[in-house]
Amino acid sequence: MAEAENDTIFGKILRGEIETELVYEDDDVVAFRDLRPVAPVHILVIPRKHIVNLLEAGQEDALVLGKLMLASAKIARAEGLEESGYRVVVNNGAGVGQSVFHLHVHILGGRSFSWPPG
Ligand code: 5GP
Repeated sequence: MAEAENDTIFGKILRGEIETELVYEDDDVVAFRDLRPVAPVHILVIPRKHIVNLLEAGQEDALVLGKLMLASAKIARAEGLEESGYRVVVNNGAGVGQSVFHLHVHILGGRSFSWPPG
């Protein structure tokens, strides 16, 4: 999908149209704190490329998907979550709660979590 068509809130953040403090960035990936955190640490990691969700990712996205996960671990470590652990969540589709249609990994930490998730 062409970047200009990325009319999501995260597209606006990536283009600098909404000022957002980044906690991490590299050539492929950007991360920032969630506006409405549900845990003491709640960070969103997104690819610069507009991928709607994992269902829309293709083979050509394999490298960037790996980079998302590696960046998530790096950020979790930097946030002091190495010992306590952290959870990553990716909502794929409105039916399971995806509200922003630009792929994002939620990093959640700093409290305990139940299993199975609600
Ligand atoms: P989803 O529900 O799609 O899995 O997650 C979207 C997340 O984006 C939500 O947790 C929501 O709080 C967050 N969010 C929505 N708009 C903004 C925004 O403008 N800035 C930031 N930092 N987070 C946002």
